Amino acid sequence: TTLKELGVNNWLIKACKSMRIEKPTYIQKCCIPSILQLKSVIGCAQTGSGKTAAFALPILQILANDPYGIFALVLTPTRELAIQIADQFKAFGSEINVKVATIIGGMEITQQAALLANKPHIVVGTPGRIAAHIQNSPLISFRKLKFMVFDEADRLFENKTLMKPISQILEALPENRINLFFSATITEKILKLQEISKTKIEVFMD
Ligand code: AMP
Repeated sequence: TTLKELGVNNWLIKACKSMRIEKPTYIQKCCIPSILQLKSVIGCAQTGSGKTAAFALPILQILANDPYGIFALVLTPTRELAIQIADQFKAFGSEINVKVATIIGGMEITQQAALLANKPHIVVGTPGRIAAHIQNSPLISFRKLKFMVFDEADRLFENKTLMKPISQILEALPENRINLFFSATITEKILKLQEISKTKIEVFMD
């Protein structure tokens, strides 16, 4: 299988080539066609499986047709992961000058508020800090949001201290969004997350 056969556009295939990504991984083969068809998915994927490209490529491809407002929000359990994911979005999306805001704890909050006010296409970050911005700045608008990504969903949802910020974030998002869950383990709890999605979710396990 090639990226082209999965429906990925040439400009993204070119960006992938420059990052030495040519042959899609298992999780990419499963998820990319479904996400391009605007379906919500749960993907079982470890770090190193190529899961970031599995969601970043289809999100960027759809975003390129309608680059307006905050288009996707990616939640991760750690600051390091947020930085890595933001870097991959920037690299894959350099052709379309994608604007990515990394919103994590331990960094200057007013500087981050300015990043958010600059209408990024993609926001990547940790739940506590994103929730704090939503609480403090009523001007941040997620009205245009199409995609919500839960990266390492098992870690996000098993950490009790993250429950409140995650629910505050979800309250600020439109209901008719596409939800993408990536998790190293697929537990009952993860499968139950299908309830926060209004549409049916496809589950891909390896
Ligand atoms: P991830 O699982 O998203 O943390 O990705 C781990 C690493 O694999 C990243 O450095 C990617 O650039 C790389 N990668 C992603 N997809 C592929 C692929 N299809 N072929 C080779 N490397 C890849």
